[in-house]
Amino acid sequence: MLGIKMDEQPKSPGDTWIGPAPWIEMALPGPVAKAIIERDERVTSPSNTRDYPLVMDRGYGSVIADVDGNRFLDMAAGIAVCATGHSHPKVTEAIETQAKAFIHICGSDFYYSPMVQLCERLAKIAPGKAKKRVLLTNSGTEAVEAAFKLSRLHSGRKWVIAFHGAFHGRTMGALSLTCSKARQQEGFGPLVPMVAHVPYGDVEAIESQLFNYKMAPCEVAAIFVEAFQGEGGYVVPDARFLPRLRSLCDKHGILLVCDEIQSGAGRTGKWFACDHFSVVPDILLMAKGLASGMPLGAVIAREDVMDWAPGAQGSTYGGNPVCCAAALATLDLIENAYMANARTRGEQLITELREIERKHKSITNARGMGLMCAVDVVNARSGKPDAGLRGRLLRQAFDNGVILLPCGEIGIRFTPPLCINETQLQVALKVFDEAIPTVQ
Ligand code: PLP
Repeated sequence: MLGIKMDEQPKSPGDTWIGPAPWIEMALPGPVAKAIIERDERVTSPSNTRDYPLVMDRGYGSVIADVDGNRFLDMAAGIAVCATGHSHPKVTEAIETQAKAFIHICGSDFYYSPMVQLCERLAKIAPGKAKKRVLLTNSGTEAVEAAFKLSRLHSGRKWVIAFHGAFHGRTMGALSLTCSKARQQEGFGPLVPMVAHVPYGDVEAIESQLFNYKMAPCEVAAIFVEAFQGEGGYVVPDARFLPRLRSLCDKHGILLVCDEIQSGAGRTGKWFACDHFSVVPDILLMAKGLASGMPLGAVIAREDVMDWAPGAQGSTYGGNPVCCAAALATLDLIENAYMANARTRGEQLITELREIERKHKSITNARGMGLMCAVDVVNARSGKPDAGLRGRLLRQAFDNGVILLPCGEIGIRFTPPLCINETQLQVALKVFDEAIPTVQ
């Protein structure tokens, strides 16, 4: 154990302890935040999608302080990224120590121990007994891109199958697999050819539709699947879905690629969501929670699958040593304390969300695994999806000091840092609960 008590925020020496939350001193955004937002809106890409005006100044554990001194409980963790909480002292120490030693030397061309240590570690935690190899990337989309290329190259086949609602990233290859919101693809075509989609959870559709009318299974390189669909609306699959997909892939020699970019790194209470279904993919993808917010992704593949020649794939920054050091510290924390906490606090989260659902007609479909949960927002009278109400609820929760993010058409997701404690979770859910009647 690391000596971190799970019933309190980890405190570091010095002044990084930023105080209890929620602590809202003014109407939001405050004056300093307002000025920054005005400048932001003049200069940053209009493609950004901000749901409400949070301007972060600092963070610690599960608490965020804004530039005007307001404090929030963080139920988003930077889209399930800050697994160990904000600026965990063990992570910042690892980053500092590595940065002082050296920051960069390009892992495609040279060797360094943090990359080796991390790849050994990831090969060990990935499910399945077979020997693995690991490619490190800078982001989730790059990991998807690399897996797309690897599966075509390794199999010599061209077709790739993914699912409606899937989000796999925004670079051209990954975007071709993404099928989450029409806006994400609109105007960017033609995308990478020979990609087909079926409804999430529907293995039957692959056999009866695609294999009958579209392509022969012997021409399919890979099926990309989120073991727990994230951006598409936090869809927990039926327990038979992944095992059936595994059997289908085995039957036709198709590679099963599990995108655990959002659901991996202990978030669901196990290392990977596919572990809950005892399914071993041929290629497994990580990013987000892997390095506590430092940009890092990973492609973990069976050794006989990752068989490409030198030069077939590479990256200047992928597996940067500082990111590797952050990931090693992150994995220690997750393994020693936070994965167990994700299970315990996950139970608390889903129980309390179900209670909130029971109390409010406009909240439905509480669901999730570990600290990856969501509810849907509907009109209390008609029971119809209500994206407008969802938006007002997100904003009200923010005004009351809780940071939440949407998912899918009408979902609100709860993905706090894995270090969140019982009281913080209780308080955040109380704030959410109390906000519901005020925005109807
Ligand atoms: N795959 C999944 C399941 C994701 O949730 C995301 C991001 O939300 C990605 C891929 C893309 O990752 P990134 O934004 O790091 O490129």
